[in-house]
Amino acid sequence: MQQFDVVVVGGGPAGGQCARSLSKAGRKVLLVERHQNFDINSFSSAGTPLETLSQYHLPESIVGSYWHKFIVVTSSKTGNWEAQKPLGAVLDFGKLRTFLASEVSQNGGDVWMGCRYVSHEQHNGQALVTLKRAEETIQVGATVLVDATGPFRSVIYDKGTPKPEFLTGTGIEYLIEVEDADYQRYADALTFFLGYKWMPKGYSWIFPMEPNRLKVGAGIINADHQFVKQTEPLKHYIHLILDEYMKIPHYKLVEVHGSTLKYSRGLQDIYYQDNAIAIGDAVSTVNFLGGEGIRHAMQASEIASRHIQNYLDGRISSFRDYQIEMHKVFLRTWNLSEKFGMKKYLQDCDAIVDKVVTYLQPMSLEDVVDILFYYRFEKVSKGLPQYIARKLDSFLTRSLSRLKSIYKKPLLR
Ligand SMILES: Cc1cc2nc3c(=O)[nH]c(=O)nc-3n(C[C@H](O)[C@H](O)[C@H](O)COP(=O)(O)OP(=O)(O)OC[C@H]3O[C@@H](n4cnc5c(N)ncnc54)[C@H](O)[C@@H]3O)c2cc1C
Repeated sequence: MQQFDVVVVGGGPAGGQCARSLSKAGRKVLLVERHQNFDINSFSSAGTPLETLSQYHLPESIVGSYWHKFIVVTSSKTGNWEAQKPLGAVLDFGKLRTFLASEVSQNGGDVWMGCRYVSHEQHNGQALVTLKRAEETIQVGATVLVDATGPFRSVIYDKGTPKPEFLTGTGIEYLIEVEDADYQRYADALTFFLGYKWMPKGYSWIFPMEPNRLKVGAGIINADHQFVKQTEPLKHYIHLILDEYMKIPHYKLVEVHGSTLKYSRGLQDIYYQDNAIAIGDAVSTVNFLGGEGIRHAMQASEIASRHIQNYLDGRISSFRDYQIEMHKVFLRTWNLSEKFGMKKYLQDCDAIVDKVVTYLQPMSLEDVVDILFYYRFEKVSKGLPQYIARKLDSFLTRSLSRLKSIYKKPLLR
């Protein structure tokens, strides 16, 4: 039986980054991924701020495109923001995961594709892990076992153990090929659609994937809305964008992919059990407000990797401090994001969604990115003076014209 310091289950951004870091640090690592390759179910739109590339030393080759514009379309408003230089990228999710796994191999780690985690049991402080590759059952030993299976949380919840209720969100995306002129209309921009018309209970989007290829998707929170009682299937909203907004007569559908995210409200997830530790979406690192999860999954991996090294070196005997650190980093901001997300997606009526766009419009794109990607919610109040000034201005204009019209009327005697 092969023995590893660490077995990482799941080759998403969390598992790939964790295995990459630990193999780089000289640990004997095995990364297992159930799919045969990373082109299968390349479900993520993979929009991210530029910082992700530098922070995690990601190469240009995994970038599909860069964006320096941000557009929000609601039922009756459109907000446009633009910066002078790129503020973010749209990654090729398949290439990102392939790159992380290839780094693991280059660092001397093992990567087993098409290999599924089945179960594990404890034996003398080691995890005895059962895997399945095609029809073959394989057992390996691990000092630390990492659950990076995202929404499945397959390792940390044993088979048959009831899972708590999660808040779930489902997204479907079309990867389409379009004429160059059509691509250029959406290049350099993240375009989002909100509100009853485009996507009640969530949002839809157009992201530029790479020259002549666009990602058009829709995501919904699977919970009740205060006002909207019925919604259409997700594909209806994608076709609405294609037909009514983009008005593209000819496009080639390259791929349809999607996934369901499972988020624990108040971050009540199980972070560790014995020598097993959970990272990424398995501990709800996806942000509920924006749905951004890649950067945060990688951040969780870096935190976990440090604790795993301490465990392997005998400096700690439990991952209790990992959970504490994760809560320190995420809990407050994630609770706030959850609150704003619940309000925006499940409580606000259409008129309020429109108002938010009007309110944010005078801000710079840098400020909007700070709010939506860096959760600097205190910046929201920055728009308040301009908003009040605009409201006051339109009130005065209306009052003045009313006065003028009264004044013009002949006085009754
Ligand atoms: C439609 C959609 C659009 C999104 N868009 C964005 C975006 O624009 N920007 C962004 O930052 N985030 C986005 N996200 C969120 C982001 O993709 C996730 O938060 C991120 O992928 C989480 O990474 P992870 O590694 O924790 O989990 P995952 O990416 O889910 O990876 C888990 C891996 O584990 C594997 N696995 C599961 N079970 C087993 C098993 N038993 N054995 C072996 N392997 C197993 C899976 O095959 C998978 O590869 C989007 C999500 C969706 C659904």
